[in-house]
Amino acid sequence: MSRKLLLDKAHIAGIETFEVYRKEGGYRAAEKALKSMTPDEITEEVKKSGLRGRGGAGFPTGMKWSFLAKPEGVPRYLVCNADESEPGTFKDRFLMEKIPHLLVEGLIVSSFALGANTAYIYIRGEYAWIVHILEKAIAEAKNNGFLGKNILGTGFDLEIYVQRGAGAYICGEETALLESLEGKRGNPRIKPPFPAVKGLYDCPTVVNNVESIAASVPIINMTGDEYAKIGLGRSTGTKLISASGNINKPGVYEIVLGLSVEEFLMSDEYCGGMKNGKKLKACVPGGSSVPILPHDLLFKTANGETRLMTYESLSDGGFATGSMLGSGGFIVYDEDQCIVENTYNFTRFYRHESCGQCSPCREGTGWMEKLLWRLENGQGKIEDIDLLWDIQRKIEGNTICPLGDAASWPVAAAIRHFREEFEWHVTHPKEAMERNYGLRKNIYVAPTPAGA
Ligand code: SF4
Repeated sequence: MSRKLLLDKAHIAGIETFEVYRKEGGYRAAEKALKSMTPDEITEEVKKSGLRGRGGAGFPTGMKWSFLAKPEGVPRYLVCNADESEPGTFKDRFLMEKIPHLLVEGLIVSSFALGANTAYIYIRGEYAWIVHILEKAIAEAKNNGFLGKNILGTGFDLEIYVQRGAGAYICGEETALLESLEGKRGNPRIKPPFPAVKGLYDCPTVVNNVESIAASVPIINMTGDEYAKIGLGRSTGTKLISASGNINKPGVYEIVLGLSVEEFLMSDEYCGGMKNGKKLKACVPGGSSVPILPHDLLFKTANGETRLMTYESLSDGGFATGSMLGSGGFIVYDEDQCIVENTYNFTRFYRHESCGQCSPCREGTGWMEKLLWRLENGQGKIEDIDLLWDIQRKIEGNTICPLGDAASWPVAAAIRHFREEFEWHVTHPKEAMERNYGLRKNIYVAPTPAGA
């Protein structure tokens, strides 16, 4: 079942250079697309492939492309979202670092399909060293006739620019990203209008994740129909997963969608099981925003079916008993980890990253942080758990952008599945504090939030 379409050549020495990438068959998809296909045919292949956005939402990529407005005389833009800031997610970093020409080639194919003559890679500021890797790859592609004017004599022009963000998580939201790219504060826009109609500089724009754009290369090379045969059901193709936490082999893996969660976490081919022989307690399967799954819902769904690495299986049962594939950031917890402390850390992150435009998110994340700090530090009451539940309910679905949901879901799932642990913090404050201080004595301890 193991198969790689994106990282199959990542281990080859020198693959980050144009020379080696080309020698290994690179830029074949760009040549095929530009010389023998029309833009509509490329979009059709991507639709046939069943590729779904790899940034988190899982929206069909070909359909997103087909929504792009095409008014006469108005430029269109392709923006590559490389603002990978979701805690637990580091897959795009690996791809850009190891095989940058795959992204450049994907941008050429995708831009041609969309009729865009300018593409931007918006990359998180902390990935500063990757900016140089990408700029070198872009310069090499240009020197070899794959970028610039009249690419390969086809009459198609394309320039790619790399833009560094300044460290705000919210700029990973597509409209906040566009605001930032325009030089403004990265506040999410109210939708509609959607970027496909009114995006960068008010022009039609497609924003795609790094992995989604890179996936257009194998799709064009092998055809959409062949790509759709890989994977399971509506979860086609392969997916990059970044695995971290208390496992033996943390790292970035390319899996075929449909692999069982148990095989991914426990087999030597992937994560290699739990570190130091500890028991598995829980897992966040798609980056910090998605609901945590306790161990008894991780390998089997609530219906007793094998839990698979697909969009459908991971969300089976809705949020009552399921989660999401999300951005593919697997964070694994062993029996020693404190769910209350973990929930506090996630909430502190979202409170810090809220742009402050809507009050449920701005105020709600702050109150949740204070309540969680109290519970975590032995000063909580049982009513605080109910109040936390109430606050997260009032945030979800009531905000301009999905950061509000992203902040509420981890709190809801933690209370839903680990309520006894929250209660234990109230009934055993001294033991809870001693346990957590013992575990984190060597790491930074956050100061008390004002008003907690
Ligand atoms: Fe800003 Fe939060 Fe509202 Fe998003 S949900 S627009 S981050 S305040």
